[in-house]
Amino acid sequence: MTRTCDVVVVGLGVMGAAAMASLSRRAAVIGIERAEPGHIGGSSWGESRMIRLSNFENPGYAPLVRRSVELWDDLEQGGEPVFLRVGVLEAGPPDGALMAGTRAAAAAGGFAGEPLTPAEAGERFPAVALPAGWTATLQPGAGLLRADLGVRRLLAAATARGAEMLCGVGVRQVSDTAAGVTVVLDDGEQIQAAAAVITAGQEIAELVPALGPHLRVRPQVLGWYRSERPQLVGPERLPAFAFDDPEGFLYGFPDFAGAGVKAGFHRFDDDPVDPVTEAERVRRHLQRFLGPLAPAHRIGTCGYTITPDEEFVIDRDPDRDNVWFASACSGHGFKFAPAIGEMLADLALGRTPACDPSPYALARFA
Ligand SMILES: Cc1cc2nc3c(=O)[nH]c(=O)nc-3n(C[C@H](O)[C@H](O)[C@H](O)COP(=O)(O)OP(=O)(O)OC[C@H]3O[C@@H](n4cnc5c(N)ncnc54)[C@H](O)[C@@H]3O)c2cc1C
Repeated sequence: MTRTCDVVVVGLGVMGAAAMASLSRRAAVIGIERAEPGHIGGSSWGESRMIRLSNFENPGYAPLVRRSVELWDDLEQGGEPVFLRVGVLEAGPPDGALMAGTRAAAAAGGFAGEPLTPAEAGERFPAVALPAGWTATLQPGAGLLRADLGVRRLLAAATARGAEMLCGVGVRQVSDTAAGVTVVLDDGEQIQAAAAVITAGQEIAELVPALGPHLRVRPQVLGWYRSERPQLVGPERLPAFAFDDPEGFLYGFPDFAGAGVKAGFHRFDDDPVDPVTEAERVRRHLQRFLGPLAPAHRIGTCGYTITPDEEFVIDRDPDRDNVWFASACSGHGFKFAPAIGEMLADLALGRTPACDPSPYALARFA
């Protein structure tokens, strides 16, 4: 059997789901997922991802943030919100990478946030104790995205507009043809389309070999912790947080839906990690800021796909004219998925995207 459509999307984590949602407004789209959307082998699963309005990683993210916030809010449509504005508290030494980067991002058009001293942070959020000499900033309009719900909503929006989803079957090959692309599935089925968008996460180099030399996957460990003061760590008393700990960037979320405080170190090194040891290390460090916590009652792992400059790659495949891709969100891409999905849809349909993809071109590694 050969199906036809305008655009095929390969991989339905948050990037593929967002690309499908955008494409489905303007074109006939088929999305293909090897497993199930939101499966725990991918990078988009879980109850929460952080969304900051000023991002220390790159002051240039402001347009992506603005567009993504609009699109996340659009997904709400009278139902439960995907974006919970619980605020984000960032704290660290004033000249550390986190606080200096956030200041630079705010100066470049991001959101300035509210500066807080350690004492003010403790008054506002009684669970929080920050070291003397640190600075803190609260981004009240930032917070957390309900990740699983967000992916489900994006796909539901796409299918409601007529997009088709094939799950439990992988894509083996995507080749350029005179008229567009031929996509071959693992079961031998073929799909003819004008263009393909590949958002295959950690496995993307299987389908976009040009990316292979520039990507590495770094497993991350997350722990869920019960506080001895549960009344202080719910979303009404504790925002999402990022601390510039001496051992690394320690981030996490308040206990919402009774799951516990979720936290982890944002790790880019290549050292081997034992999940139980790492979860205990997170607890030890987190207790300095949030007070006594029980050992993790749940531990999860998830992969970051990372480029040498820890930035995204969003581009046309150098070897195939009708193939576009987005990858390597280097541990901070979820929040931008709606804007990146829209960018991919515009590129695949031959339009000029509202957000400029050129900073994320593959050629920067040449
Ligand atoms: C622990 C952790 C914490 C994070 N925290 C944050 C955060 O707080 N804020 C933030 O903004 N970002 C965060 N991120 C980053 C963000 O979650 C990822 O950038 C994002 O989820 C990547 O989505 P993706 O769609 O590219 O990949 P994935 O979600 O991995 O989706 C790719 C999909 O492609 C499928 N696939 C692969 N090959 C094929 C094939 N051949 N055929 C068909 N399907 C295929 C896979 O099965 C998979 O489902 C975090 C990531 C992790 C791991």
